[in-house]
Amino acid sequence: MSMESKVIVDGLTFVPYLTRERIHEEVVRVASQLRDDLKGKKPLFLCVLNGAFIFAADLFREVGIDDARINFVRYSSYEGTNSSGKIKELMGLTEDIEGVDVVIVEDIVDTGLTASMMVADLKKRNPNSVRFVTLLHKPDNSKTGFTPDYVAFTIPSKFIIGYGLDLDGKARNLKDIYIVEEDL
Ligand code: IMP
Ligand code: MG
Repeated sequence: MSMESKVIVDGLTFVPYLTRERIHEEVVRVASQLRDDLKGKKPLFLCVLNGAFIFAADLFREVGIDDARINFVRYSSYEGTNSSGKIKELMGLTEDIEGVDVVIVEDIVDTGLTASMMVADLKKRNPNSVRFVTLLHKPDNSKTGFTPDYVAFTIPSKFIIGYGLDLDGKARNLKDIYIVEEDL
């Protein structure tokens, strides 16, 4: 269970921020809230690719609802370490969600642009409910006032990698979360 003391990606130095043990604790906490709130329902989890795939896999199993399903959507807004401010739908939802209890699973809510756009779009398709879960929330960067329903960690507006989060496609495989050193 070793954690590197430093990780260098594209010339940027990252240092440890959230250990896999801390992440697991919060996954368990959020999963138990969801399990309570979704009692008696057959929810559809919607994992927002690519960043949320590891969190969604852990959360989906931890929630442990036998009738739950999972599907995947994909948007893109980031270039390097800055939000481009533009959202692209790269892979939309292909199934009917009318009357369905939807649980959106994101890695990070940063400006909130992706999140607010997704929720507005999904609500047009008449789901029974839409819940929004995020591993990380950077409230200081909000451009929309969007508030996620479930948050594992509230963090400052610094760039982080690991546990699914990337820097231009790299570092998603790290088991712990790291923060850019220059920003500390
Ligand atoms: P938003 O639309 O600005 O809220 O951007 C959300 C998306 O930007 C997230 O789903 C991530 O993919 C990406 N993102 C935001 N902050 C970070 C970060 O610190 N590290 C890696 N990706 C990030
Ligand atoms: Mg994402």
